Formats: sequence, structure tokens, C-alpha cells
Amino acid sequence: MKKILVLGSAVLLLFSCQNEDDNATTASAPAAKRLCATQEVYEAQLKADPGFALRRNQIESFTEQAVSQGRLVNGKVVIPVVVNVLYKTTAENISATQIQSQIDVLNRDFNATNSDFANVPSLFSGVAANVGISFELVSVVRKSTTKTSWGTNDAMKKTVKGGIAPTSPSTNLNLWVCTIGQGILGYAQFPGGSSTTDGVVIDSRYFGLSGTANYPYNLGRTATHEIGHWMNLRHIWGDATCGSDLVSDTPTHNTANYGAPTFPHYSTCTGTPVEMTMNYMDYTDDRAMYMFSNGQKSRMAAIFISGGARAGFGI
Ligand SMILES: [Zn+2]
Repeated sequence: MKKILVLGSAVLLLFSCQNEDDNATTASAPAAKRLCATQEVYEAQLKADPGFALRRNQIESFTEQAVSQGRLVNGKVVIPVVVNVLYKTTAENISATQIQSQIDVLNRDFNATNSDFANVPSLFSGVAANVGISFELVSVVRKSTTKTSWGTNDAMKKTVKGGIAPTSPSTNLNLWVCTIGQGILGYAQFPGGSSTTDGVVIDSRYFGLSGTANYPYNLGRTATHEIGHWMNLRHIWGDATCGSDLVSDTPTHNTANYGAPTFPHYSTCTGTPVEMTMNYMDYTDDRAMYMFSNGQKSRMAAIFISGGARAGFGI
């Protein structure tokens, strides 16, 4: 028990060092390691709004029940997407081509038509999912700003803060593309939060395939990962040492993996399973993540079925 606690604080220390380093650099410095702020924003929202915690518990019970009953979406889910671009520099005002390239990546990754899906090791091929959810770009909203970075307090989603309010968030997935800062690539809001801030924020340097997209986050996978959160997926390591992601067919991971790990990478958690480092919900580089699991697919489906938290998008 003691050992686990020590390990936990070592991980926390690593993360705070990362933040301090990044704060010391300018907003334009590329991120050295993948860093997603979804969990931190989630924990802050839970503290600020007790009602949110209650809704999250209800969504979790509903999800558990739907998954155990094998309820799937009746028909195909097509998600209308609104992209909100906030720019100070010309580079931040990303092109329509770059935006469409991101939509195309999402369609491939969520339908198992990404070319690297073939790289899924045979150990995991039985659980590798075709999620069967598609995305359709409906509009792009652009706004010029004097801000050099936006942080993670949802200012980019608020007109009074110089941002752009979401367009019909109960029936559209709103993406905000801007400079976040602090080495953060993106963050999402889990289902059950306020509709005024619902959606996904992605730094413009890690969005889509062309233009400002920066290696090793230049294959559009930051959006795939963040939209996974928006569809109620947790990080594969459960944001804790050997934590749970509430999915039965993903192995227990020690912690986040970075870069492009060599297969097989063994966990030291109970049972020493081979970790699914190529899962979109890990922290690996874009080229090293290329699958969702069937268990993750069921969790995502549960929010779109009748009674689900995002049933407005369902059939
Ligand atoms: Zn994340």
C-alpha cells in the first residue's frame, strides 16, 4: 500500500514538473510530451458543481446497465461538427483543408478504416473495434483575438471572454481550435456537464494533417483521443497507478505511455498483462495509437442510446 502511494506521488511530481517547464516557455513552444487536461478540468468541475457529480454517477450507472445488456445504437450515429477557430496569428487561422483533414481522420479512426489499424497486434485483434460513428462538418466559425493563449478555464467558449459560444451543443459536437498553452494538446468535457461549455478544445498545432500540425502530434489523433473523452472514455490507465478505465477488455496499465513503445510492453500491475499502448486513450505519439476496443465502443454507444446523456445525437 505504502509503495503504491509513493509511486502515485512520484507520478504527480512528474506532471507538475512538466507544467512548470512548459509555463516557463512561450505558448509557441511545441509540447515535449502528450498532455491532455481533461481529467484536471473534470475534477475542477466536480468541485465547483455538486449537481455535476450526481449526473456523472447517473450516467455511470446507466452506462454499466447498457453495457451489461449489450445495448447498441439502433442505426448509424452521425455527429454534426462545428469547428470554432480563434486566431491571433495567421498560422492559428487554420485552413479549411486542414479542418477537413481532421474530420477525415475522425471518420477513419472511428470506423477502423485508418491504414495503421492493420498494425493492431494479434493479441488485441479480437477486441479491436469498428466504433461505427461518423462525423460531418456542418460549419466553421472564425474569430480574431488578441489573446496569445487560452488556458483550460473554458474562456474560449464564452463570448464575454472573447471566445465563441457553442452552436447548439445538444445536437452538434463543438470543437474549439486555438492556442491553449502550458504544453496542453487538448481537453474535453465528459457527458453530463454544462451545455454552455460542452465540446472539445484542441491546440491548433495538433489539429488535422497539414498546415500547423506538428510532429509527433501531426496525424489528428489528439482529436480522436479528446472525442473519446467527450464520448465518456477515460484514460486507459484510469488516471491512477494501475487504475481502472471502467472498460473490461482493456488491460490494466501502470500509468500513461509516451512516444512509440515497443510491443510487447508489460504492465507490472496484477497479472502483468501486455499493455494496449496503441489505444487512442493512452498518451503515445500520434503514429503509435490506432485502435479503440470493443469495450470502449460499448461505453461510447451507451451515451447515444435512448435515455443516454447524448441521446440527442442518436437515431
Ligand atoms: Zn485525455
